[in-house]
Amino acid sequence: MINSVNLTSELVKCPSVTPDDAGTLKLIKELFKDTDFKITEVSKNGIKNLFLRWGSKNLPTFGFCGHIDVVNPGEISKWKMNPFSGKIINNEIFGRGSVDMKSAVAAFCLAALNVSKETSPIFSIVLLITSDEEGKAKDGTNAILEWMNKNNERMDYCIVGEPTCPKKLGDMIKIGRKGSLTGHFTIIGKQGHSAYPQLAINPINSSVDLIYLLTNKPLDNGSKFFEPSTLVTTSIFTENRANNVIPQQVKVTVNIRFNDNHTGEKISVWLKKCAKKIEYKTKTIIKTDIKISGEPFYSKPGYLANLVKKSVQKYTGISSEFSTSGGTSDARFVITKCPVVEFGLVGQKMHAIDESVQVSQIVDLENIYTDILKNYFNDVNRKTKG
Ligand SMILES: [Zn+2]
Repeated sequence: MINSVNLTSELVKCPSVTPDDAGTLKLIKELFKDTDFKITEVSKNGIKNLFLRWGSKNLPTFGFCGHIDVVNPGEISKWKMNPFSGKIINNEIFGRGSVDMKSAVAAFCLAALNVSKETSPIFSIVLLITSDEEGKAKDGTNAILEWMNKNNERMDYCIVGEPTCPKKLGDMIKIGRKGSLTGHFTIIGKQGHSAYPQLAINPINSSVDLIYLLTNKPLDNGSKFFEPSTLVTTSIFTENRANNVIPQQVKVTVNIRFNDNHTGEKISVWLKKCAKKIEYKTKTIIKTDIKISGEPFYSKPGYLANLVKKSVQKYTGISSEFSTSGGTSDARFVITKCPVVEFGLVGQKMHAIDESVQVSQIVDLENIYTDILKNYFNDVNRKTKG
């Protein structure tokens, strides 16, 4: 009999490093074969994703979203065992993706399947499963949402099953995330002899000026739902190997995690302005290249956040904190469609060597997801009757 624990183990056995689904989607299709779920494969640019629906699309619809791709295990010799063994030892499943986030996918698949068997379809469930989250995330959840829009597919609420809890299952529900932006600056000066600095323009000095200008004041003091934005210098690079040469060029990279006081566009304009100032002051040329990987978003804590919180409390006894901490996630795409929150496992071991998950956590997560669906169903039922 398939359950969320042995399904997680089977999923971990598939080496689904982005963007290869490596058989994971086939396992999920098999699970839903001969059920009332309609399975659609949504592929884009060679990336395979799945969309599953139970019940008519005119009905109130609850969605779950997750990814089955994983990050590279890195040096395999550093692992205690094969990162794709999926072995269960002392009630723990070992392997890449066990935490992030094959367990949650298994848990919501089983929750959806079991609830569908016990319930008459006066509401509907959809599942969005992608194999492109850990990479560029261009043709994954985005592609499914595009397909949903084209096919008049909808959902009223969605949970993304990313690991969200810092210490204990239940301690955190994410209601949003900061935006993320990376700025690359190439500062070009004039190469010369270090004994004759007056004849050269040193781009290293300009890079120091630029970094000071960017970091000497906080970006903001936070907002109602967010911590203050941060700007971190992640790289200063020059090709120079000689100790008596002033190099021609220096590259500086900064990464900014920004809250809803800003937009990616506004920060880009500010970065370019700062670069212009330093260019003028230090007589260098500065080329600026900016990549926005996500805008900040949040779902105001309302019906959905409280629905999740109630079920989490029932199974863990913990009153979850609503938070917008952490990096970007696919919830940034889902928010364009409906209110979304993220709730999943304890994230401590995600992307780490010897990633593993306790079996009891998967069972709890499945119970929580099941309870959320049942409570949503009851609420819909009450509204229809009322
Ligand atoms: Zn993840």
